[in-house]
Amino acid sequence: MIDFINAKYFKYAVGSNIGIEKPNDISARCIICGDSTKDKKQKRLHIYTKPQYDGDIVHCFNCGFKNNMYNFLKQPQVNPTLYEQYVKEKREYNFNILKNKEKKEKNYDESIIDIGYNYKPKSESGANITSGTNEKTSSEENSTNSTNSTNTTNTTNTTNTTSDQQILFKGMVVPPEVFILPEEFVRADTNDKASEYLRNRRLNPEEYYFSSDWCEFRGRKMPLKDCIIIPLWVSESDRICYGFQGRSIIEKFFYTYVPEENTGWKVFNWFEINREKPIFIFESIFDANSSGLPRDRIGAALGSDLSVERENEIKEAIFCFDNQFKDETSMKKSLELLKKGKRVFIWPTDIEEKDSNSWLQNHPEKSDKDFAQIILNNLHNDMKGIIRLKLKK
Ligand SMILES: [Zn+2]
Repeated sequence: MIDFINAKYFKYAVGSNIGIEKPNDISARCIICGDSTKDKKQKRLHIYTKPQYDGDIVHCFNCGFKNNMYNFLKQPQVNPTLYEQYVKEKREYNFNILKNKEKKEKNYDESIIDIGYNYKPKSESGANITSGTNEKTSSEENSTNSTNSTNTTNTTNTTNTTSDQQILFKGMVVPPEVFILPEEFVRADTNDKASEYLRNRRLNPEEYYFSSDWCEFRGRKMPLKDCIIIPLWVSESDRICYGFQGRSIIEKFFYTYVPEENTGWKVFNWFEINREKPIFIFESIFDANSSGLPRDRIGAALGSDLSVERENEIKEAIFCFDNQFKDETSMKKSLELLKKGKRVFIWPTDIEEKDSNSWLQNHPEKSDKDFAQIILNNLHNDMKGIIRLKLKK
């Protein structure tokens, strides 16, 4: 069935020229190309859905336009205020799903695994945390109350959201665009090839998904043949996510999908972390999951730096890049962060491997907890760290 919000805005956008109207297909005269000049009755712009799609497609069989609702509403032929209203309504709707979910889940386990590591808060950096948290709490109340009442003009662009638009889940800001993970992604432990690939890397197939073929999703064809899929979950039990990463089991190939609305959200495990504790940020998901650190203390910044917005949501980010002595980029990034006073894991010089997953593969006699201990023994946030990197000792 076409999403009811999508159907509503599709009709707003096309005006009175509606054709067929079925639960999974609505047609209208195309406002993008103007449709047929000879036949004024032609209505070749459709919004439709198919079981294999998550989300609806807007498609004109005259001019060939084919995209999701977001991009349809961004077209110059569409009244721009519709796009703003649409984004707002979608957010509120998604927020309500999550809010109901949170009520049911109020008793989620708050216990914190301590692994013998004492965190000493840095005096200079924690200053804004408290006021930031208060602000977010009050905005949560606003959005709860305002679901149907407010009609304030919305002048923000998508990258710069004001706090009254923010939706929170487990105390964390929810990305503007969340969606249900496509059905064709199956659990990795149900597929032999995928399970073998993961077990060879000492990773647990039960924690991953698998895509056996290309996939058409949200108006895009995605090259996900034989790919392990790692969803970026908001809520796994509801299959609600804000993106995912595919990783080929045949060749060295990654495909990261995070909708363009979710700027600053190329980050893994965000809704599982305990934001009251320092979080260890890795370069890749496999490295984070091989670190032996507790699940609620790890994240990964995918192909980019951790965004300022995300970093501000947590007490502290501790950066665990690839082995600095094997990777120049990692060396550069680590030095930069150390100069800013951030805490960084510096690899001991006697380790040959370039990341935690290869260390784990090469040391079958050890466990990932041994690697966690190496990390905890080698954290630096001062001059000593810089010297250690520069002198290799
Ligand atoms: Zn058209």
